Amino acid sequence: MPGEPSGYGDSTRSVHAGRPPAAAYQPSLPGPVFVSHYHLPGEAAGPYRYGRDENPTWTHLERAIGELEAPGDPDVTVLAFASGMAAVAAVLLSQVRAGQIVLLPSDSYQTTRSLRERLESYGVEVRLAPTAGDGQLAALEGARLVWLETPSNPGLDVCDIRRLADAAHAAGALVAVDNTLATPLGQRPLDLGADFSLASGTKALTGHGDLLLGYVATRDATLAAGVRTWRKTVGAIPGPMEAWLAHRSLATLALRVDRQAANALALAEALLARPEVVDLRHPGLPSDAAHPVAAAQMRRFGSVVSFTLPDQAHAERFLSALRVTTEATSFGSVQCTAERRARWGGDAVPPGFIRFSVGVEDADDIVADVLRALDEAAGAVGV
Ligand SMILES: *Cc1c(COP(=O)(O)O)cnc(C)c1O
Repeated sequence: MPGEPSGYGDSTRSVHAGRPPAAAYQPSLPGPVFVSHYHLPGEAAGPYRYGRDENPTWTHLERAIGELEAPGDPDVTVLAFASGMAAVAAVLLSQVRAGQIVLLPSDSYQTTRSLRERLESYGVEVRLAPTAGDGQLAALEGARLVWLETPSNPGLDVCDIRRLADAAHAAGALVAVDNTLATPLGQRPLDLGADFSLASGTKALTGHGDLLLGYVATRDATLAAGVRTWRKTVGAIPGPMEAWLAHRSLATLALRVDRQAANALALAEALLARPEVVDLRHPGLPSDAAHPVAAAQMRRFGSVVSFTLPDQAHAERFLSALRVTTEATSFGSVQCTAERRARWGGDAVPPGFIRFSVGVEDADDIVADVLRALDEAAGAVGV
């Protein structure tokens, strides 16, 4: 099965992705290789020379992610990074130079947008335009790199990757898609025309809230070489233990994202009936403004549900009344987490905005806990 996984279903591919062919008396996934220098007899040229350049534990993980981002494509290159931001920065900073233009989503993950100042200090022009309604289309004239994040974090707007990629390519720009929220089982940006698909593996890809990781995937060997050189020169490399844990976690990716998507939809549907909940967003909800585009390009809609409660105090009462769900930033873990996003500043969200990440617990328990906490926060039950 390993070696030719592309014709199989998502669960089968998740379980087997990147694992070497079964060999007598060997584990199915070789353990992490802890190494800085490899034995280099004579003038040996590779493939493993120095630990900042290559590691066999990364190689297995990178093959696995490649089989999920671009099933059956032997020409895809995946490069693992120390975190999602290391991957974001690798693409942004390795692909543009002074005098060029980068188009970012105005509602992207806020740390991605915080690279704007750095880019501008290097003489790169940065433009911002919204994800919703393919708002970036109107701003891509002259751009060298168009950055998409869909669904966006935390607002959950969606853009049409194929439409934007076609327009960007016609205008001579490269296209990168941050695929963190969807995971490669939720959407495949390279198949939709993107030059780069990249993500934080810290979130749903690995899903256990116990490591940081990032990756960049591309089908273009020249682009891949630029990102590889960037990784080597800035040294933003994952530890072998994190890379191995990430690969081990991929075996349950399909199980987790299926359950999370079903639970997120159940929660969103339950929230529809609550009068104090406004601006409810989840791309899988048929009534969501983003649903038509999401349904056309996504295969699973992710774990995040966002909504707004009347004010900060109401939101804080809600969060502290939750029992199944704990307060944390990040998303995509096996356990439910939620946060009042405005606590951080940096996102254009109201004070009562909640980003809720649904785990793999039982939907009935999640929904009952949320409805009870909403009642308590509204004062319907003595607190
Ligand atoms: C979290 C996140 C990142 C950064 O990932 P880290 O692993 O925390 O560095 C990048 N993009 C998006 C959309 C994210 O949600």
